[in-house]
Amino acid sequence: MVFEPFEKVALIGLGLIGSSLSHVMRREKLARTIAGHSRSAETRDRALELGLADSMHESAADAVCDADLVFLCVPVGACGAVAEAISKSLKPGAIVTDVGSVKSAVIRDVSPHIPGNVHFVPGHPIAGTEYSGPDSGFASLFENRWCILTPLAGSDEQPIARLTAFWQACGSSVDIMDPDHHDRVLSITSHLPQLIAFNIVTTAADLEEVTQREVIKYSAGGFRDFTRLAASDPTMWRDVFLNNRKAVLELLGRFSEDLSALQRAIRWGDGGMLFDTFDRARGIRKRIIEAGQDTEKPDFGRGAQGQDQKVMVKRPEEP
Ligand code: NAP
Repeated sequence: MVFEPFEKVALIGLGLIGSSLSHVMRREKLARTIAGHSRSAETRDRALELGLADSMHESAADAVCDADLVFLCVPVGACGAVAEAISKSLKPGAIVTDVGSVKSAVIRDVSPHIPGNVHFVPGHPIAGTEYSGPDSGFASLFENRWCILTPLAGSDEQPIARLTAFWQACGSSVDIMDPDHHDRVLSITSHLPQLIAFNIVTTAADLEEVTQREVIKYSAGGFRDFTRLAASDPTMWRDVFLNNRKAVLELLGRFSEDLSALQRAIRWGDGGMLFDTFDRARGIRKRIIEAGQDTEKPDFGRGAQGQDQKVMVKRPEEP
């Protein structure tokens, strides 16, 4: 189906997600004009140099003037303040959405600032890399990925349908979810693995009996995959954990129990328990490949980074 472009889209935040949205909107002709705002003059200048927006604005309020679609592409903890800053400049009938990795807290912080004649449709593209900033974006980031929308109860259908069509035009499949459920699902699929990566990398760096030089030199084991995750933006992840506290803490309790069970099996030489656990885990990896969410390449992850990314996965199955 042909997508009717938005007349004007405003991108608030031009890091990995904002710049990738710009690239895909240019490629697929999803917006006639793109206006941008970023907090620092450095990012604003770079965004203009890269052609990420037709106009860059020092104030977010100026960027959203007359925009039909406004994307908040800033860290989760900054969404409320940005929404407050743009509130009075939003065009009646405009759609405001976001890309934050946590949904309930963003809804709590943003909703109070959205005027009654503006549609707020929260969203989260399940796509990313460990890179950040305006140079890190690329047009295919959202291809063959899911985008989850978490509309508020009683929202109009038309803006949800329009945003769904937008994400589909970016190459994504769209799911609608309850925000609390989104936060619980993402706590296991994204937030906890990230926390484990930050933790294991710093634990290894602090070990006294193994030198930092050795950690780096012999990193070809599983450790190297953790370092890729741990290279992600610390501000973004700080905000994720501060704003998805309940779901992550609940999950950490369960995770610690399971880890203790493994610890006990190692101590008591319970090879059967270890084998069964590892075998089940291997089966889950197989199902992720079958669902088209990764490739069978033996060094998974490393070939799918940043600008060089070639999407080799198939489109997600409809649930
Ligand atoms: P990023 O590359 O670090 O870019 C962040 C952008 O937000 C920059 O333009 C930055 O401006 C601006 N910003 C930072 N703090 C701000 C503040 N306090 N007030 C106003 N603007 C601020 O981040 P990103 O990876 O694009 O992430 C943006 C959002 O997407 C986050 O909510 C994140 O949870 C979500 N997300 C990320 C991923 C991922 O893998 N990275 C995936 C899905 C969703 P300056 O550069 O001018 O400082």
